[in-house]
Amino acid sequence: MKKRAIVLGSAGSIGRNSLDVLRALADEWDVVGLATGSRWRVLAEQASRFSPEAVATADLNGANALEDAVGDRARVIAGQDAAVRLLDEVECDCVILAITGAASVPATLRAVELGRRVAVANKEALVMAGSIVVPLAKKTGATILPVDSEHSAIFQAMLAGRQSEVRRVFLTASGGPFLDWTDEQMAGITAEDALNHPTWNMGPKISIDSATMMNKALEIVEARWLFDLDADRIQVIVHPEAIIHSMVEFCDGSIIAQMGTPDMRTPIQYALTYPRRRPCPSPALDLFSVGGLTLRPPDVDRFPALRVGYEVARRGGSAGAVMNAANEAAVSLFREKTIHYLDIARLTEAVVNDHTFIAGPTLDELLRADQWARDEVSRCTASC
Ligand code: MG
Repeated sequence: MKKRAIVLGSAGSIGRNSLDVLRALADEWDVVGLATGSRWRVLAEQASRFSPEAVATADLNGANALEDAVGDRARVIAGQDAAVRLLDEVECDCVILAITGAASVPATLRAVELGRRVAVANKEALVMAGSIVVPLAKKTGATILPVDSEHSAIFQAMLAGRQSEVRRVFLTASGGPFLDWTDEQMAGITAEDALNHPTWNMGPKISIDSATMMNKALEIVEARWLFDLDADRIQVIVHPEAIIHSMVEFCDGSIIAQMGTPDMRTPIQYALTYPRRRPCPSPALDLFSVGGLTLRPPDVDRFPALRVGYEVARRGGSAGAVMNAANEAAVSLFREKTIHYLDIARLTEAVVNDHTFIAGPTLDELLRADQWARDEVSRCTASC
């Protein structure tokens, strides 16, 4: 019997890569459900290629057109909660969670509630709601498998020992396009500069997060929840070649690294095939052409986002929701040219420090903290 996969966020870059991987694994996996936000045309095209049982779109306006396009090949579910309803209505073995932003949280919680294998490809679900998602997974027996390349690497390296034998993890960071820029140069960085990432080809939000290293800050928090690690056992290490995807150091001093070409299809596939491995469509790494690998400590003074990440990982609770929302709001203002590059981390840090911390928040409290942080960024920007 074939295994059944649902891809939430199938129109985005991770979603499309996931479908590439699933097509290569078609002898073992069926795609039984697909969901997108508003890009229903892409969804209709994917439905004709993969013949899922149901497709879901959050966009009510596109629902009729989607129904016409899909015909009776698949059931159409539409509305704000369409992704959650898709999970309720269609049985599956694995949910690939590639919805971005706060919108991913309800679907993540439902997938975990249902005890599914959940391949988590976005950061927000864990950064915002790790304090709810992780204990819930323990209760329902859901398996959370990371798709973020660094966390997949840590997950794989962890298999070389026991949790109690881990001394620390090295979370690698490419350093983004401004790694060696002077302070004066950094003050003048534009959104166009920030959208130019040297190694990974990514969407605008994540490219800017990579440039500020807020991406790494979010990943520190993500690692804290995924691997139940204290913040001081997560060491960010700058590695511009992006060949080593992360490492785990064990108590005997052995450091286990996972390496490969920077291609999202490798961690996506591993989340599907774990604990087994299979040939993957991503190109093999040619170690002889790599030449050398550089490793160096991060400069927290020039990339203060990292300091925020550690602080939020230390606090847990509602702090992640606030950091994530404040950063999202600040990135939007930067793209609109309302604030400068250096303001992104500065504003995020100020809002995190000002918020009234809740140690064990409910989902409602997290959503309120999220909204508060966004409002606070606007308020600070207007008054500064
Ligand atoms: Mg990553």
